[in-house]
Amino acid sequence: MATMTKGLKKLSPANALDRPVPLEYTRNIGIAAHIDAGKTTTTERILFYSGVVHKIGEVHEGTAVTDWMEQEQERGITITSAAISCSWKTTSGPYANIPQQINIIDTPGHVDFTAEVERSMRVLDGAVGVFCAVAGVQPQSETVWRQMDRYQVPRIAFINKMDRTGADFSRTVDDIRKKLGGNAHPICLPLGVEADFTGVVDLVNEKAYVYDDKSGMTFQTIDIPDTLKEDAHADREALIEAVADFDDAIAETYLAGGILSSDDLKAAIRKATLSMGLIPVIPGSAFKNKGIQILLDAIIDYLPAPLDLPAMKGFDAEGREVAVETTDHDTTTGLAFKLMSDPHVGKLIFFRTYSGQLKKGIRLYNPRTRKSEVVSRLMRMKASSREELDIAYSGDICALIGMKDVTTGDTLCDRSRDIRLEPPIFPDPVISMSIEPNTKADQEKLSLALGRLAEEDPTFKVTSNHETGQTIISGMGELHLEIIRDRLFRQFKVEARAGKPQIAYRETITLQAEGEGKYIKQSGGRGQWGHAKIAIEPNEKGKGIEVMNEVVGGDIPKEYIKPTVAGIQGAAQTGIVAGYPVIDVKIRLQGGSSHEVDSSELAFHQAGSLAFKDAMGRAKPILLEPIMDVEVVTPDDHKGDVMADLNRRRGRIREMEQRGNAVNISAYVPLEEMFGYATSLRSLSKGRASYSMEPYEFEPIPVNLVPWIVSTSPRAKTEN
Ligand code: GDP
Repeated sequence: MATMTKGLKKLSPANALDRPVPLEYTRNIGIAAHIDAGKTTTTERILFYSGVVHKIGEVHEGTAVTDWMEQEQERGITITSAAISCSWKTTSGPYANIPQQINIIDTPGHVDFTAEVERSMRVLDGAVGVFCAVAGVQPQSETVWRQMDRYQVPRIAFINKMDRTGADFSRTVDDIRKKLGGNAHPICLPLGVEADFTGVVDLVNEKAYVYDDKSGMTFQTIDIPDTLKEDAHADREALIEAVADFDDAIAETYLAGGILSSDDLKAAIRKATLSMGLIPVIPGSAFKNKGIQILLDAIIDYLPAPLDLPAMKGFDAEGREVAVETTDHDTTTGLAFKLMSDPHVGKLIFFRTYSGQLKKGIRLYNPRTRKSEVVSRLMRMKASSREELDIAYSGDICALIGMKDVTTGDTLCDRSRDIRLEPPIFPDPVISMSIEPNTKADQEKLSLALGRLAEEDPTFKVTSNHETGQTIISGMGELHLEIIRDRLFRQFKVEARAGKPQIAYRETITLQAEGEGKYIKQSGGRGQWGHAKIAIEPNEKGKGIEVMNEVVGGDIPKEYIKPTVAGIQGAAQTGIVAGYPVIDVKIRLQGGSSHEVDSSELAFHQAGSLAFKDAMGRAKPILLEPIMDVEVVTPDDHKGDVMADLNRRRGRIREMEQRGNAVNISAYVPLEEMFGYATSLRSLSKGRASYSMEPYEFEPIPVNLVPWIVSTSPRAKTEN
């Protein structure tokens, strides 16, 4: 096969260390799929072929393949790891004998775990979408796909299960175009279908590959069979036309009727894929070991290397935006994107290095905690083992061991740099419940375990209700909290009772206002003197609580600023309407006064708290409720009932889309109205409709419902 050098950006020698895998041959990818489409099987096969066979054509016949697979399955292969690495060698190009590294980042598809999807999107550069050739594009796979659109993640599609009865390759390609709006074009066609699916036709190289039946380890390269020649020609032309828009040279050659080399075509496909203008599609059957090697080649050939992406954005200590370029020679900067507890080594911190190198023993600085800690070990997770590393480079993904005070989303960098990379955006929890251990003796164990879980999962929060003293856990849905309780029991051996799930309401303000807090007591003995004046105004959505210190001339002495700010922030945890946390308020601390003897940190803490409550009372505070983005798929016959029911639930229909004889209804519905929806939808549709939902945003609660919500709030309960 011809070589392929075009289209690959290289790290300039000045920026590259002598690394075992050139950066242009590193791929950080995610595999996304609807449940049951074959993500696990495909991942297993990728790990298998990449771990055992280094070059297509090497023959290892026999049962070893399946044996290995079964063993791995029994041991519960580590593909549930946050990131797993394998190496591959493409069959063509100057790098054919250089191991290329593929890091597969776990992308969970379940809607209760938006945070998991968000954090993986931040660190992956490209993705493979796995679809079932029988079922086509299924609703849940759309969620992850849309998220990838939002993060501009270039993709290829693997149409799996071509061996199954009812498999239809072109229908699935059309589905991707219609339902997902992707410009999908086959780069390979299936050779046969269902039980006769034997291999693929490669449109780029104009050859066909017929797989050996058992292991799929080897295949024969043959000419395209006559029966498929016409289709293959037409699809190749369509592919060229699609990529010509992204490559002037290709367009010129094509228009002039010239012949395109497979090299040029590959480079053009790469360009189009990286610009989000094309989704190359490959047919296969992971289960029957067909098409996986082609998929691995395509991952290297068409998905981006870290260098193909724009520099990562970050902010320096003064809040100025800075770009972190991919280079081995700069200081180290990277993102801790996932934490996992490991029974053998303790806390594993999955880390993506954006710039610089990472040596075992390095001290990394955490701008959040303002502390540096030593990385005692570096590891790369492999299919059936772990590799200890001495060094990792820019663009790499590996696991760090030894640092303690790190949470998901933290930037870790060189002390001299003090930079914060843009962390993934995590939505606010929408549901809460109280939790207590079954036995009093377990209280401490419970707090420790909850702390650990919160550290790993940024959308899971633990708070305590100041008024009732209860421990409250909050998360993204009932299922999310259910899983947390299960993990408490299995992983930490703590049995806990949970209260009824409650909606996590919020409070905010609608006007600007000023407020004053005086905590002054001077009746005999040493008194108290804390005094603060503030101005508050509504903040942008999603910005939370921001406090700015604008005190001049020492009205509040320097040492009392921090406690005053802490008092303000503390008060914002329980709003004045019904005791729910306050969000999206900007607060300016503007002045106050102090007393030489009577002032104390405590007094200013109180003054800050009183000032906030005073100002909030004048700023027309309101209650907010979580709104869910709900998708229902129902057969036509039940459309009317489902819509009427959503309307009754205060739903706003956003979109309706016909899919064959089913309708996909999207609506924004308050979470409050979604309790018991599963049961109600089942009876409405005689069990034929299904739904999924995820948090959308917080919105003001209709005025007529406010009294009821206030009367059922945790504050009202403590007052009764
Ligand atoms: P996941 O839920 O997406 O991870 O899907 P799995 O990989 O667990 O596969 C779901 C089911 O489909 C399993 O029973 C697999 O054995 C089966 N499966 C996966 N790939 C194929 C395939 O290519 N052909 C056939 N016939 N079955 C497959």
